[in-house]
Amino acid sequence: MLKEFMKYYLPYKKLFLLDFGSAVLVGLLELLFPLMTSIFIDELLPTEDWKWIVIAAISLLIVYLIEGVFKFIVTYWGHMLGTNIERDIRNELYSHLQKLNFSFYDKNKTGKLIGRLTNDLMDIGEVAHHGPEDLFVALMTLLGAFVILLTIDVKLALVTFTIIPIIFFVTIFFNQKMGRAFKALFKNVSRFNEVISDNIGGIRLVQAFTNEKYELEQFKETNDAFRQTKLKAYNFMSWNTTISHISQKATLIIVLILGSYYVLHGELSYGGFVAFIMITNVLFEPLRAINLMIEMFPKGYAGFSNFREIMEIEPEIQDCDGAIELTGEIETIEYDHVQFKYDEQHVLNDISFKIKHGEQIALVGPSGGGKSTICSLLPRFYAPSSGDIRINGTSLERFTLKSLRSYIGIVQQDVFLFAGTLRENIAYGHPDVDDSDIMKAVEYAQLKSFVDGLEEGLDTIVGERGTKLSGGQKQRVSIARMFIKNPPIIILDEATSALDVATEHKIQQAFDLLAKGRTSLVIAHRLSTIKGVDRILYIEEGRIVEQGTHDELMNLKGRYYALYMTQFEHLTVE
Ligand code: ADP
Repeated sequence: MLKEFMKYYLPYKKLFLLDFGSAVLVGLLELLFPLMTSIFIDELLPTEDWKWIVIAAISLLIVYLIEGVFKFIVTYWGHMLGTNIERDIRNELYSHLQKLNFSFYDKNKTGKLIGRLTNDLMDIGEVAHHGPEDLFVALMTLLGAFVILLTIDVKLALVTFTIIPIIFFVTIFFNQKMGRAFKALFKNVSRFNEVISDNIGGIRLVQAFTNEKYELEQFKETNDAFRQTKLKAYNFMSWNTTISHISQKATLIIVLILGSYYVLHGELSYGGFVAFIMITNVLFEPLRAINLMIEMFPKGYAGFSNFREIMEIEPEIQDCDGAIELTGEIETIEYDHVQFKYDEQHVLNDISFKIKHGEQIALVGPSGGGKSTICSLLPRFYAPSSGDIRINGTSLERFTLKSLRSYIGIVQQDVFLFAGTLRENIAYGHPDVDDSDIMKAVEYAQLKSFVDGLEEGLDTIVGERGTKLSGGQKQRVSIARMFIKNPPIIILDEATSALDVATEHKIQQAFDLLAKGRTSLVIAHRLSTIKGVDRILYIEEGRIVEQGTHDELMNLKGRYYALYMTQFEHLTVE
């Protein structure tokens, strides 16, 4: 794991050396100050030579101005090193996430993945910067201080270095308790966020049911539990601060008493005494740094192992060795005894059918029957557990994903709009397309009057916090996208939610235009829209139970007929 991590320092060797070297110099100069002070008091002061006193003071000032520069380097360039590594790991993770399949996203919540890309990575960045440098400098300072204290006074040095480990372990004890309490707090924060997002997301339902009082009580309980966890963490934090404060001062006072004793007995100079106190003070800094590392390291380690865990997931669906480009016309699409299961749930059974060039096939049947799943196997969002799907006689796995997916356009029910302009949303994936082509797509998608009615036309911001589009408009935006993408195969998942007759008509018109000259698969919910298609497959419990043209299936008087009749009756009742 350490080796894996070190790899990320490689591109920044110079930055690392600069940061590391500066940190070492800062550590050394911090030790130098007490020594210089003791020389100042013991050697320079008795000479009473004001000139040399001023020169020495100015020299010291220059030394510490230089130290200031090194400190700046450590803080700024050190963090630059950390942020560089953080950025690189984040890019690597995002690029890997892009390759992971739908099945991965079925199992992993968005919130969790956002955490991986943000908090986890920040923890890694902190350790990347502080880890090696702080530990080394802290150990070096401790050692240096010990040597200097020994040269000043052996007995006092031994006393100080007996007290230091005691302080250290006491602080670690409280720090670990505090660490655990904060860990519980962070867990609570994500749980709390879920509750909040649930409550805000469901606010319309809460208001519609006038269930505010109940929700508020629930919320108060969660909020209180959150407060309790927080308070517990602050309790340990207060102990931690108090104990370390008292122990630091106690150490200084012991040094003060012992030092005074030695000075009075002529065993220690005044300068040595002052240096001793100052060095004892300097000692607390490396202790604090080590302590911080002990706290920070597990977070960074956990973040990095989470990262490695995701990186080690191989996407099941990816280009095979020697994958070929899908080119030319679509002659046939063939599902051949396809079975499929999501994890353990068997969803498709022995699905076989063939579509010829330019044909339009409709999938109908009860919800949950497997229609969407059949469609999502074609762009290889999922892979069949057995059986084969072929285009022009070649298995889908043989094609590169890029070429296969460029051949297929999907108009989903629930259209996703990115936060951005209408233009960006329609031209998604084709940023170079010009406005006249976009307007043509808008016209074909029956959106022209809508866009013309917008004050800012194609520049209107849509998506999150933008102009709200109705379900029907969104679906037509998605159809407009398809005119720009211009793929030979179209999959349309009709909106299930009731649309008014005019909107439905517009979508139908737009889709008919889009389907012209292409091979298409339609998941149809309103049977009135598919009377003219070449073939209808009736899907139930993962099987094709009936297939044929509308007339054939009506004559069969089976499932399709029954479904048609319910919709027809429903319409007449209306
Ligand atoms: P339809 O499109 O006919 O409504 P689907 O293909 O969406 O049917 O669903 C078929 C079955 O697969 C259903 O039982 C559904 O619960 C299940 N299913 C659909 N998508 C997923 C998924 N991403 N993960 C697990 N199960 C799923």
